[in-house]
Amino acid sequence: LPSLLPEPPEARVTRDADCLFCKIAGGEIPADVVRENERTLAFRDISPQAPTHVLVVPRDHHRDVASLAAAEPDTLAELVRTAADVAADEGIDAYRLVFNTGEQAGQSVFHVHVHVLGGRAMTWPPG
Ligand code: IMP
Repeated sequence: LPSLLPEPPEARVTRDADCLFCKIAGGEIPADVVRENERTLAFRDISPQAPTHVLVVPRDHHRDVASLAAAEPDTLAELVRTAADVAADEGIDAYRLVFNTGEQAGQSVFHVHVHVLGGRAMTWPPG
């Protein structure tokens, strides 16, 4: 099952020159940053879909959550912990985490990010 194997070292790209979120993580494009550390960055979505809408990304470039899980499981766990910290900072105790994975699922930026959405009632199923 290749999807369960770690990415070979040559497939692991730390930074992609054409990637919007790599540029934000590198400080080349400004963002409304709410939390950051050596491995992760959290910033407000430019087109918020809820009163709280923050994206949490690893600084390293991975195209989606499955690639990140295979290559750096600790960083994936840190994204989720950071998302919970963001929700606490925002004073919300209910929130939705979304990893859109693949174009048909709504992924438009191919640098893994978790959406932290909250501050209003959510409906199910998503559109
Ligand atoms: P996706 O559609 O799940 O890949 O999410 C990408 C998100 O990035 C969308 O919600 C966009 O509104 C958001 N976005 C795109 N460009 C920027 C930016 O420059 N700053 C902050 N958020 C952005």
